[in-house]
Order: sequence, then C-alpha cells, then structure tokens
Amino acid sequence: MAEYTGTHHDGGAGDDVPDLSDSDNEEQWQWMEANDNIVQVTCLFCDKMSNSGPETLQHCLVEHQVDLVEVVKKHKLDDYGYIKMINYIRTEKCSGQSLSTLPECSIPWESDEYMRPALQDDPLLQIDLEELCEGKGILAGPSTGGQCEASRSSDALLQRAQAAEERAQRTEEALARAMDDLHKLKLLAQGLVLNADVGRGTGSLGAVAELREDEDEAYFSSYGHYSIHEEMLKDKVRTESYRDFMYLNPEVFKDKVVLDVGCGTGILSMFAARAGAKMVIGVDQSEIIYQAMDIVRSNQLQDRVTLIKGRIEEVKLPVEKVDIIISEWMGYFLLFESMLDSVLYARDLYLAEGGSVYPDRCTISLAAVGDTEKHQDRIAFWDDVYGFKMACMKRAVVPEAVVQVLKPDTLISQPAVIQGIDCNAVSLSELEFASDFCLKITDSTDCTAIVGYFDIFFDRDCGNKVMFSTGPQVTKTHWKQTVFLLENPIPVQAGEELHGRITVRKNKKDPRSLFITFDLHDMKQTYSLQ
Ligand code: SAH
Repeated sequence: MAEYTGTHHDGGAGDDVPDLSDSDNEEQWQWMEANDNIVQVTCLFCDKMSNSGPETLQHCLVEHQVDLVEVVKKHKLDDYGYIKMINYIRTEKCSGQSLSTLPECSIPWESDEYMRPALQDDPLLQIDLEELCEGKGILAGPSTGGQCEASRSSDALLQRAQAAEERAQRTEEALARAMDDLHKLKLLAQGLVLNADVGRGTGSLGAVAELREDEDEAYFSSYGHYSIHEEMLKDKVRTESYRDFMYLNPEVFKDKVVLDVGCGTGILSMFAARAGAKMVIGVDQSEIIYQAMDIVRSNQLQDRVTLIKGRIEEVKLPVEKVDIIISEWMGYFLLFESMLDSVLYARDLYLAEGGSVYPDRCTISLAAVGDTEKHQDRIAFWDDVYGFKMACMKRAVVPEAVVQVLKPDTLISQPAVIQGIDCNAVSLSELEFASDFCLKITDSTDCTAIVGYFDIFFDRDCGNKVMFSTGPQVTKTHWKQTVFLLENPIPVQAGEELHGRITVRKNKKDPRSLFITFDLHDMKQTYSLQ
C-alpha cells in the first residue's frame, strides 16, 4: 500500500508544485514558504485556479452551470460518495454537462477506485458535505479579491477542514469498531456451523472464530504481496493456458458479461476483455486489487473491466447475473486453499442460466513412486543420527505431504485418475470424497511414495479446447507435485496392481487445509497439507 500511494498522482494541479527531488531545493522551499498560506484549488472542469473550495464551487455554478450541491442531493451522496464523485470528475475529465444529465440511478463513480485522491491534498475533498448541503458552501459566495480576504477565507476554511477531519476520524473509528464486531459475529456463526459435528469440549468457539479470522487475514494478506503474483504470472503453463483458451475462443466471450473470481493483478480479466467480453467484473479481497486498478487503467481497459475489492461472498456486484465465470482457484493437490468453494458460491448466486464456469473440468491423479535414495534421506536417516536412534521422528516427518517437483524417472506405475470435477455441476459436499484406486505397476522395485497431481481442462462449448497438466511427466508448474511418503516401502513387481483407497477431507479447524488418508497394503496413514 505504501508503494502504491506513491505512484498514482499523475497530472492535475500537483504538477504545479515543484519537484523536491530536483537539485534546486533551496529555491523550491522558498517557493513553498511564500505560498504556504494560499489554498489554490483547480476547477473541476477547466484550468481556473480559485482561492478556496467554496469559490471553486461557485465558479463551477457560474461558468459551467454545474450545481454540485444539486448533484450531491440528486444522487443522495454521503461523504464517501461525494469524495468518489470529485475524484471521478478529476480522473475521467468528465464534462459539466454529462455530470448534470446523469440519470438518478446511474452513478459511474461507485468503484472504490475513486476513493483515491486524483489530486494530492485536494481542498474540494475537505469540504464539509453537511454544511455544503445546508447552503453554507456555495452560498459563502466568491471572494471579491484582495490578499487579506483570501487569507481570512483560507484561515476559516482551514479551521473547518480541521474540525471536519476530527469528525471524520471519530466516525471512522466508530465504523471500524462496528465492522470488527460484525466480522467477529460472522466468524462465530461460521464456527458454530462448521464445528457442529465436532461436539462439545473442543474449546471456546470464540477462540475458533478468532483463529479463523486470523487465518483468513493471513491468507488474503499473502496475496497482497507482489511475489506470489509474480510466481503465478511467470508460470507460463498456467497463464498461457488461460490466455490461449480465451484468445482462441473469442466467440465464447464476444459481448458477454464475465466475472473473474479472485482477479489478483487482473490478468484474466484483461484476457477476457481482449477476447471480446463487453463487461468484466474482477473481485479480490486482497490488497493486490489496488495494483490491478492501476494495471487496468494503464492498459486503457477501465471502460470494460470493473474491479471490486472484497470477498466474493460479501461484495455487491453491479449486475444480477453473469454469462461466464473465470477463476484461477487451484491449490496444491487441486483442492488445497479451498478457493473452489468461493467459485461455487459465485456460480450458484451469479451465473445466468446456460452460462459457464471456466476452467470447466479438472481431474486428480495418483501414481506410485520408487525413489529409494530420497526415502533413505527423509525416513531411514532417523534410524541412526550420529550413532543415536531417532526413529520416533519419522512419525512427525511422514504425515506431512511434501510439495516438490518429482523426477519422472522415479515413477513406477501408470497414473490413475481418482477424481473428476465438473466445475459447472459439482456441489460443495462433493469436494470431500473417498475413492478406490488401482495403480498398474511398471517396474519391479520398492514403492516408496505415492505422488498426486491434477489436470485442468477448458473444453465446454468451445471450438478450441485447451488443457494443462501439473503431472511429473510434463513441464513443471508452480504447483509442482504433492508427494506422500510411505513409512515402510512396499516391494512391487512389474505387471501387478497396487490397490488402495484415498479419502480427502477438509481440516475442520482450518478449512483451507486438507487431510488425505491412504489405505494401502495393510497400511493406513493420514497426511496433512498445510
Ligand atoms: N486471477 C489471478 C490471481 C489468482 S490467485 C491470476 O490468475 O493471476 C487467487 C486470488 O483470489 C488471490 O488474489 C486471492 O486474494 C483471491 N481470492 C481468494 N478467495 C477469494 C474470495 N473468497 N473473494 C475474493 N478474492 C478471493
């Protein structure tokens, strides 16, 4: 966020202030001091500078026939609405006429994007809306000129601005407290529902709720950092598959309304817009969305891509239904992170009859691994550590599934698909499942681990189908593979079938992580992925 605020003040009155990074600093400070008491305000519709906010509003009324008070009243704007309107007018260089003729129910400045000041320290943003609407704003009348009067009016304005600032701060604090309480209540309610089957005695629900809140905050704050997006964008297999699907199937996107669940930097939203969508709505709860707002604007796609900050489960979309939902929700072993839950929520609430979710199909596969060297390094190692037995440590090592890139020559069976997911039809409850599997062994050796990975398909109602795999046989992706080490290797013969059963369920205490249980060859082991 700190990085962000430094970059967005392009153009506007800020350009009139000398750049203090220049070498001529002393002269500039003198300029600043000499001009310290004069509040200079640029008109919303032309380059005229006035000495105060009210004078600017008066000028707008007389010269441009725009009565800002009327506009505020007509659209029933609150403080935030007023701020967004001012920033919108300045950013979009909206004309006075188009502002005055806007129909009552259509406000083009709803996006939170317009909370960002278009001008640094814009005095028009410090005007007291209540007073303005009571007539004390514009009716204060224009200055008749003269340095004394200008400075008196600027003193008075300064005092009012300070008072308004204090009021705003108090209101903001009260609002933050109320939001906090509301959020805690919601989490408590979630905790009650999710833990209903856990029974009593699992500890305080308040503590569960707080834990979950922290976890979710940590989840979204991790997506606020650029590095995770850099990693995803640089994963060409992933990003180019989404791009190719959209660019190669423009007929699917032409004139459609598209929802991008978890838009991150906005890359998929922009692909969709370029593929011909008439409107794309990108939603993301993490702070990366502020970068997406700049990115979309830098690519002149702001007319077609609308970005909304918030959880998809909580935001209000500007449309009732969408034709297409796109999302890159996949986690390790496909279901880690449980973000698919949010996509299904969006699908059930917003997808129009006959619409599609993309990617539309996924599979999860398993294969047997024979890598004795690795097994020794991770497991047998504990049998003799500098002459001491530490075998009990294996019980800590084995149950943690390992995310790593597997060497393809360590595969010792054909892969077996253990689950298929149709994203347009699957229900939330089906994301926890059990499945029998059979691995056809290709090498006579010891099976030391089972590897899991997923494949993604874009193939519903489109001419040019696209898919990608995260398996060990093909180009690696940032998802790598998920490896489940066996404590005791299983000797296998080429041609035999290794039968087992896998159970995948969410960790009730942390629904973003998974428990995966294997029943294999008289062994039962539960792995966690966190
Ligand atoms: N679409 C982007 C980012 C994918 S990463 C890309 O392909 O590069 C997933 C994004 O979804 C993250 O930025 C995360 O903050 C967001 N996200 C996850 N769950 C969400 C939810 N319930 N509501 C809104 N955003 C969500």
